[in-house]
Amino acid sequence: MNHKNSARLLTFLLALLVSFFGYPQPIIDLTDTPELTAGEYTRYLQENNDEKLTLAQAIAAFNSSEVRLGKHQSISLGISVAPVWLKTRLLNSTTNDENYRISVETPWLDVIEAWIVYQGRVIQQVSGGDAVAFEQRPMQYRYFAFEAELPKGESQLYLRVESVGPMAIPLRIATTELAVKRDISSSYQYGFLYGIMVALALYNLILFFSVRLPEYGLYALYLIGFVINSLSYTGQLHTWITPDFGPYFQDWLDIFLMITYSIAGLHFARKLLQTKQYAPILDRATIVVTLVIPAGMVIGFIFNQLTFALFLAFLLNTTFAVLFILLGLQALKHRIAAARLFLICSVTAATCICISTAAVAGFVPYNDVTFKLIEVGMAFEAICLAFLLAQRFRSAEADKQMAEKTARLDSLTGLNNRRGFAHAAQPIWFQEIRNGRDVSVVLIDIDHFKRINDGFGHSKGDEVLKAVAAVLKRGARRSDIIARWGGEEFLILLPETSEAQATQHAERLRQQIEKIELTSPGGAIKFTASFGVCGTIDGMFSKTKLRDDDLETIINVADEALYQVKASGRNQVKAATQQHVRQSRSKVKV
Ligand code: GH3
Ligand code: MG
Ligand code: MG
Repeated sequence: MNHKNSARLLTFLLALLVSFFGYPQPIIDLTDTPELTAGEYTRYLQENNDEKLTLAQAIAAFNSSEVRLGKHQSISLGISVAPVWLKTRLLNSTTNDENYRISVETPWLDVIEAWIVYQGRVIQQVSGGDAVAFEQRPMQYRYFAFEAELPKGESQLYLRVESVGPMAIPLRIATTELAVKRDISSSYQYGFLYGIMVALALYNLILFFSVRLPEYGLYALYLIGFVINSLSYTGQLHTWITPDFGPYFQDWLDIFLMITYSIAGLHFARKLLQTKQYAPILDRATIVVTLVIPAGMVIGFIFNQLTFALFLAFLLNTTFAVLFILLGLQALKHRIAAARLFLICSVTAATCICISTAAVAGFVPYNDVTFKLIEVGMAFEAICLAFLLAQRFRSAEADKQMAEKTARLDSLTGLNNRRGFAHAAQPIWFQEIRNGRDVSVVLIDIDHFKRINDGFGHSKGDEVLKAVAAVLKRGARRSDIIARWGGEEFLILLPETSEAQATQHAERLRQQIEKIELTSPGGAIKFTASFGVCGTIDGMFSKTKLRDDDLETIINVADEALYQVKASGRNQVKAATQQHVRQSRSKVKV
């Protein structure tokens, strides 16, 4: 006999066997396995779209033709497929009737009918699914579930599932006791995960309203969007808030919530990583994706094309994961500080999302861990991103402080500018006059500075300014405040110093400036400076009578004294007199 013939014989024998016994199917011994996701014990077949089978026809179909056995714990057949029939054999090997919970944990399935057949008789029949009003479901639950009392021996469970959305059927069978335990632990897990995310979202929302940076708001939106989306696709939202809005509402709500967090997430990433600055094309592409795909979905909604919209939603979420990683990679390439951590957390979250999706699709074992990994990944990501935002906040603060500091300094000499002088001098001034202490100012102007610029060049002029600044710094006490007051003018505030002491100090500085000699191709550069001094002195500015706004007055009087030096030959120090006070007052009046 050649092997072609032997194959024929084998097929014939098998057909004979099947016609007697039906196709062999493993049986679940519920005493050994009190809790399982039963895909690998379940046979399934699909209806032709236009022809709804009765239970009897389905039983006949299961017995007469070759029917596929699930390969994974969750049976998954794709989006918008024909209604599916499932058959599972259950064995109660104890001597009593036992209570079991039978459930299908995907909440979006539209209509689910279930029959328990015992010794050729239907002993229980229930129907549920999200198309059935909430109170009419066998259990008022976020997904299809019912309790069954299984008699001793074998029962068969038949299910018919009809749905427009993804046909993922993780059929759970467990003793009632274990099912309740699972419910409780599941509530804790969700409560914990949502708690983390909602707390982070609120915190960042508050930050957003106080610092008004868009990334904080987008991050909060991203997290809240994810939590609501998760509440929706795990059926919890529809159990609490929208139980009677019907499957049409639920299906559309699910897919729009599915994209809200992706859109917020992408814009958050753009802002956090400042993509626009170094990768304008990727930035633009991200914006386009978040506009075009949702627009397509709205069109799908208008024409009631759920499958089309669902396809776009999945496309957006896949693009979301890819773009998230691309944004991270570009940021890394351009050495953005946040890039590394951003990539680590986005890749982790994307991996978790893939595993959960694969579990629902039936490619990896479907269990609590794999199904909830998406939430775990997101919580991990949420924490990392919050950390990045905090870092960002800190560096922004440091930048701001740095900017404020540089705004108060003169870049050429490193001395205070006018703004820096005001910032540093005011508190000291108030302290001195409150305590009735001496205080003085010295105003300095380089003589004929224009000639230095004209004769030796502007950069030599700059060197002169730096040399003078160095002399002033060297001669100063720690408490003195020195400022570049104008082009070649300097001002010093001397606390605890009377006008007479300040005049002596100014004279020392004048002599030191006179001694400076800078070299240049055009010969040695020598120069002098003129000084006007004004400060506390009995009879004019008594230290006990100074008022808050007198700082400006004594600077003006010092300027008047300096003006006199300029008029009378330069390179001198002049202390203010009553005449200077009068002159300065008359100028203020004009
Ligand atoms: P006087 O003795 O009467 O004070 O004469 P002067 O030439 O020193 O005074 P004037 O106010 O006529 O000229 C000041 C010059 O200082 C004019 C301006 O170009 C120059 N100047 C201002 N700021 C800078 C600077 O940052 N660097 C340089 N090199 N020159 C500056
Ligand atoms: Mg000058
Ligand atoms: Mg001048």
